[in-house]
Amino acid sequence: MGKTLVVGAGGVSHAAVHKMAMNSDIFTEITLASRTKAKCDAIAASVKERTGVTIKTAALDAMDVAATVALIKETGAEILVNLALPYQDLKLMDACLEAGCHYLDTANYEPEDVAKFEYHWQWAYQDKFKAAGLTAILGSGFDPGVTSVFAKWLRKHKLATIRQIDVLDANGGSNEQAFATNFNPEINLREVLAEARHWENGAWQVTPAMTHKVEFDFPGIGPKNMYLMYHEELESLSTHFPEIERARFWMTFGDAYITHAKVLENVGMTRIDPVVHNGVEIIPIQFLKTLLPDPGTLAEETKGKACIGDIVTGEAKDGSGEKTYYIYNICDHEECFREVGSQAVSYTTGVPAMIGAAQVLKGNWREPGVWNMEQLDPDDFMDMLNKHGLPWQVHELDGPVTF
Ligand code: NDP
Repeated sequence: MGKTLVVGAGGVSHAAVHKMAMNSDIFTEITLASRTKAKCDAIAASVKERTGVTIKTAALDAMDVAATVALIKETGAEILVNLALPYQDLKLMDACLEAGCHYLDTANYEPEDVAKFEYHWQWAYQDKFKAAGLTAILGSGFDPGVTSVFAKWLRKHKLATIRQIDVLDANGGSNEQAFATNFNPEINLREVLAEARHWENGAWQVTPAMTHKVEFDFPGIGPKNMYLMYHEELESLSTHFPEIERARFWMTFGDAYITHAKVLENVGMTRIDPVVHNGVEIIPIQFLKTLLPDPGTLAEETKGKACIGDIVTGEAKDGSGEKTYYIYNICDHEECFREVGSQAVSYTTGVPAMIGAAQVLKGNWREPGVWNMEQLDPDDFMDMLNKHGLPWQVHELDGPVTF
């Protein structure tokens, strides 16, 4: 159906590219490009071994717009799937506009020197993408991504309004490491240590990071402590469903993770500003990333399940009054490893990136402009989740959440 250029060759890319190769009727030709070509070649070798599909590889600095434009033209890509880091989003969007290529990513743009999670930089591209007749899909991972599609599916099929939404992200996986993050350590720690914000009654409510804790009994996992934190889909959901009174995001962390993260923060190791060490400028969090395990390498030893979903309350479409639904997926780390050689966090991000790109290539999501996932029709995406490794369930609860 279409030629695809994937940028970035980390954990998420590994899962996404394998799943694209398994759907070669949609992804007819795949090129994988990243800063370190050897990482692309390693993924290509694994894809060949597992699926028999040959993918092309290339070296690319995604900050170099001219080089990306040249590669898009050389490969004839219809869509660029950005699985590099949030710092590269705007440069890759610029390249897509110049080369005439659709765009998709999994995380909103962040400037390297400020940990701000805001969509306005990318929303500002709306007119340019419209004028060029091109589509940009923002945040096609699990959260953001599937969690927003879940909300849209409930809004389309079950609820006339959304009064409140809680996104619940539990990783019940364990490995042999004293401290490790489950995706890029630099991006993960910037997110986790940011102050917690949630949307309530028309304003952002701010609380210090990791201070609001609730125990929740997760399906497939059991009881776990989850913490209130800010996550980028809160901004887009509260913008695109303006009736929302309260939107919150929760993520589980073990006590050991919290202790390590706090100590690292207290001693300055998570600073994102440059410091001079022995006459050389270094950014402490980037040095820390070098020391920490690469999450992709932990796939084989990670066991347990992840469960991510939304609890949504609103007025029923059929006029039967207020209803609350819990919609979620349970994903098993070891099954992901057996299928594509990834752990569940890479898998739950990479599969929706594949499915989002498939929506564009199939022509389902082709309206020119810049779109968040909850603005698009959810039905084929939801079907593909069931068929491609992320089956979901929806249950009606007795009433709204009480935490
Ligand atoms: P990794 O660090 O494993 O991979 C990032 C890749 O991008 C690496 O291959 C890296 O190259 C490459 N890269 C970095 N800078 C450049 C550049 N300038 N030019 C070309 N390539 C570059 O990250 P993950 O796979 O864990 O995460 C990928 C993305 O997915 C991130 O944006 C993350 O925020 C997002 N994510 C989204 C989630 C969701 O549910 N929505 C959940 C988890 C992650 P090199 O190997 O040379 O460093």
